[in-house]
Amino acid sequence: MELRDKIVIVTGASSGIGLEIARMLAAEGASIVMAARTMATLEQAAANLAATGATAIAVPTDVTRAADCQTLVRAAVDAFGRVDVLINNAGYAPPASLAGTTEELWAATLDTCLKGVYLMTQAAVPTLLEQGGGAIVNISSVAGKEGFNNRSAYCAAKWGVHGFTEALRVEFQNQNIRFHLVCPGAVATAWWDHVNNPQPEDVLGRMVRPEEVAEAVRYVLSQPERIQINEVVLRTARSPWETA
Ligand code: NDP
Repeated sequence: MELRDKIVIVTGASSGIGLEIARMLAAEGASIVMAARTMATLEQAAANLAATGATAIAVPTDVTRAADCQTLVRAAVDAFGRVDVLINNAGYAPPASLAGTTEELWAATLDTCLKGVYLMTQAAVPTLLEQGGGAIVNISSVAGKEGFNNRSAYCAAKWGVHGFTEALRVEFQNQNIRFHLVCPGAVATAWWDHVNNPQPEDVLGRMVRPEEVAEAVRYVLSQPERIQINEVVLRTARSPWETA
């Protein structure tokens, strides 16, 4: 897919990985529809991107709410006339032992990381089908492929994202909607305390950088249509996941 002039929705676009994806795809000439819950941060992120000459709009969205997801897709179509790509990136991963996994924590994690992907995908697919196709990239994690200590709800959600994605790849295989999974190890974003409070050890050097995840997204999207890259896994040699 040639990204120039494509319309791309990015959820969780106000910070971390989503913001880098928005920046990188905008640099390729795509118009970006940026979504997150906190309007002030989201609007600032969109304004910063627009200041670079990119086309970007902010649409406040909670991906756990079906109505918000429908509104987001409608806002993209109203603004740009179509949607070519959906990046399901919004996520939430509070650490908790099994005993510490309350029903509220379980629901918040599964709702954001898994139900949000389902609701956004269900909202976007009819538009993609009407247009004759498109692409959906789900930002999963190596936690969707392995188990991690004190992250059972998050692992359950991300493994669910893999199953959901694989099923839809089969369901839409003859309708020109391409589904991709991008699965990073630990990425240096604000949700790791040691990114904000650097440790004496070179912790950041052992993490994947947000722009490296964005580059993987750009790569899977820019392949010719006959080439489907199902899954990209990004790991570093001594990831903090192993030592956290
Ligand atoms: P950040 O915390 O930096 O960003 C999360 C983004 O998601 C924010 O823009 C946040 O904005 C938004 N968001 C959170 N909840 C919702 C919601 N319910 N509806 C809409 N937007 C929401 O996270 P990262 O960039 O680190 O993570 C992004 C994705 O990458 C996640 O899916 C995560 O699982 C995955 N990932 C992260 C790794 C890491 O080590 N950081 C490793 C592997 C995968 P707001 O709060 O305003 O809504």
